[in-house]
Amino acid sequence: MRLNLVNMKVFKFGGASVKDADGIKNVVRILEQYADEHTVVVISAMGKTTNALEQVVDAYFDPKKNAQEPLTAIRNQHFELLKQLFDPSDEVFASINDSFVEIDWILEDEPQEQYDYIYDQIVSIGEMVSTKIVAAFLNKSGIPAQWLDARDVIHTNNTHREAKVDWYTTEKTMNEIVPDQAKKGLVITQGFIGSTSENFTTTLGREGSDYSAAIFAYCLNAKSMSIWKDVPGVLTADPRLFKHVTKIDRLSYREAIEMTYYGAKVIHPKTIKPLQNKNITLYVKSFIEPEGSGTIISANLESQYPPVIVVEKNQVLLHISTRNFSFVAEDNLSAIFLAFAKHRIKVNMMQNSAISFSVCVDNKIRRIKGLLEDLTKDFKVLKDENLELITIRHYKHEVIERLKKGKMVILEERIRNNAQMVVKDIPVIERI
Ligand code: ADP
Ligand code: ASP
Ligand code: MG
Repeated sequence: MRLNLVNMKVFKFGGASVKDADGIKNVVRILEQYADEHTVVVISAMGKTTNALEQVVDAYFDPKKNAQEPLTAIRNQHFELLKQLFDPSDEVFASINDSFVEIDWILEDEPQEQYDYIYDQIVSIGEMVSTKIVAAFLNKSGIPAQWLDARDVIHTNNTHREAKVDWYTTEKTMNEIVPDQAKKGLVITQGFIGSTSENFTTTLGREGSDYSAAIFAYCLNAKSMSIWKDVPGVLTADPRLFKHVTKIDRLSYREAIEMTYYGAKVIHPKTIKPLQNKNITLYVKSFIEPEGSGTIISANLESQYPPVIVVEKNQVLLHISTRNFSFVAEDNLSAIFLAFAKHRIKVNMMQNSAISFSVCVDNKIRRIKGLLEDLTKDFKVLKDENLELITIRHYKHEVIERLKKGKMVILEERIRNNAQMVVKDIPVIERI
């Protein structure tokens, strides 16, 4: 018999929250206090493990490098952590070892498969091990926890590294499996990963664990979802870049989706839509001060927001123009956009003139290379690198002026309450 899922909740803990033994103990305390029955807990890889596993993949494909070196460091880090949390005889040691052995097997053979496919098989291990550790530690602490392999319930296509969710199958399988597990305790599962119909592991895109949590929340008709971060909530700008920031107490889905679309790193941009579609409230809370009120994101309309600044670094501006001075008209634009779609490059900002079209994109080197190979068959393309894209929502004139200090503005646009500019640092010329 299926449970009544009206009270299902989804929690998500990112890498920063489980980066070490103290972090894991803190997560367990939060779960003890704030999770109730029927909570699904989505967890990322510990700390910077995903970056480190990316190094393993790179080394595997680079004949000059030894992939075992970075892998040994990751393995040691995990075993050091295990020693701090468990008795040496605990079966979790063997289980974690088994996960790392899966990577050893891949590394034993020469690379034959596609990079993106191998990437997913290796990098996903980060989430597999972090969740096994947290589930085992919860059980050891007397909090019943069920480990769930997210690949059994999140079904995707085979676009490796950016897999698309098969919502119909995912919703169906999730409801067949998760409610029964939830009867027995907290359900601990991985963010970021899914699997194809042939059972190959896929990943949903970097930082995708927030999105995974939203997939669970949507499919299970959750009452709410909480993402536990190292900040008090959504702030008016990234505190790593700006000194004076304030917490935004309430945000509408619309405002949140706009902010994250432009690159506010605090929430993965794909997270909001599934929640909005089922009217599920999203709480952004601090795992450092869990009692704080955080930010509540819901359908409630807020008409007044303070200026919110989003900075995207490492941007590239592509100036695309026709070779024969013909206009960049609709037919050309459609060919240009097709090429962007083919190479999966997101347009962050664009502007056109009679014979040229400028597009600001993230500096994804491999993809841009492919794009340029296609575009330069028909167009002339100039590339301007090392730029920043600054978006100011609900802008005020003085905020824009302040942000321009020391910067050269290359492209600027203001539409309704959104101002955007592509800028470059003004080089400092030393006077002798
Ligand atoms: P997780 O550990 O869940 O992956 P992230 O590191 O992805 O968390 O997101 C939290 C980080 O997002 C914060 O440490 C902060 O530096 C950054 N950030 C960027 N923009 C904002 C913003 N507007 N409000 C709060 N944090 C922000
Ligand atoms: N571990 C993955 C990453 O670092 C997913 C996530 O943390 O959201 O990208
Ligand atoms: Mg993240």
